[in-house]
Amino acid sequence: MTYDPGNIFAKILKGEIPCHKVYEDADTIAFMDVMPQAPGHTLVVPKAASRNLLDASPDALAKLLPVVQRIARAVKAAFQADGVTVSQFNEPAGGQTVFHLHVHVIPRHDGVGLKPHSGGMEKPEVLAAGAERIRAALAAA
Ligand code: 5GP
Repeated sequence: MTYDPGNIFAKILKGEIPCHKVYEDADTIAFMDVMPQAPGHTLVVPKAASRNLLDASPDALAKLLPVVQRIARAVKAAFQADGVTVSQFNEPAGGQTVFHLHVHVIPRHDGVGLKPHSGGMEKPEVLAAGAERIRAALAAA
């Protein structure tokens, strides 16, 4: 399988469609998932093109994980979570639906289950408020 540059996250990276951005550096962007499995569900996306973990370069992966850690700490603080689920899917059989590498970072509260993957769309104002909380937590870190 080859990388399709027309995928939705490639369009977000090019600024062709909007997102609720929480973080960006030279190699990575993080933004709110539009169909969150819990409030604060954030996606961390390397700018380098790869379908997923399987075809990513070691260099891209080495840059990605420290950002995942920063975002995980920030969403935990921003949503006063008890824990954080970090997940990443590869190819349709592995549960992947968007074919540009990304890592899910989901704040978790004791006893509260996740909503379905790729379930309902969240309201833009809720996503905007969540992004603001995460940006504030990043700034305070
Ligand atoms: P995957 O199944 O590929 O690991 O996850 C893709 C994720 O992207 C899903 O959780 C889905 O809700 C999210 N998603 C799909 N389309 C969009 C979009 O246009 N914008 C954002 N921010 N998230 C999206």
